Amino acid sequence: MSIEKKLSILKAEINELLIKEGRLKDSVEILAVSKTKPIEMLQEAYRSGQRLFGENRVNEAELKAPQMPEDTIFHMVGHLQSNKVKKACSYFSCIESVDSLKIAKKINTCCIELNKVMDVYIDINIVNDQNKSGFLVTEQFYSDFEEMLKLTNINILGLMCIGAYVTDKDIIRNSFEDLKKLLKYLKGKYPTFNGDKLSMGMSGDYDIAISVGTTHVRIGSTIFGKR
Ligand SMILES: *Cc1c(COP(=O)(O)O)cnc(C)c1O
Repeated sequence: MSIEKKLSILKAEINELLIKEGRLKDSVEILAVSKTKPIEMLQEAYRSGQRLFGENRVNEAELKAPQMPEDTIFHMVGHLQSNKVKKACSYFSCIESVDSLKIAKKINTCCIELNKVMDVYIDINIVNDQNKSGFLVTEQFYSDFEEMLKLTNINILGLMCIGAYVTDKDIIRNSFEDLKKLLKYLKGKYPTFNGDKLSMGMSGDYDIAISVGTTHVRIGSTIFGKR
């Protein structure tokens, strides 16, 4: 099946879910996660109208970005290493994987030099998985979050997570509900925080994320095939 066809089926499915939830059509952004996939596939998706792409390696985005039309938007979805921040700040429009205060400060410093403001999501390790990156929700997280809010050249759009990696749909749902509750709590606690986005839901669980109320899904294999 062509990428165009897969994208149109995916959009129709998402709209059907949104309508079922009483939400507006096309009110969920689709990030096409193109990591490891060849440039021809990204170009095909672009020709089908897709503009938002997700990559998890800075070096890969560096190779792909110049081969795509000007209005292509890349989001970083993988753990970012300190020594790659500078490049990341020039190739990505948004970094969804801010997982430490240290990396947020580095992004901020680079963006001051570049005279830009970087959109970011804060990556939350919502299932307390030791093998995953992302903030654990501890007292330290709240103080780090407060510090991040003060950084002038990052704009915190909202929170990102990877759902529980299990087959039990209720456990996955709970992890998404937890992220949604955390966003609400942060908005109440910090009046200067006006982020209202949730980046949750991947190929295997976007239906659950949509029913919980996500605003942004990150879909790879459903669009581009298995990696
Ligand atoms: C790879 C990846 C995705 C997409 O995963 P699929 O299961 O292929 O849809 C989403 N988010 C992150 C952070 C990823 O690394």
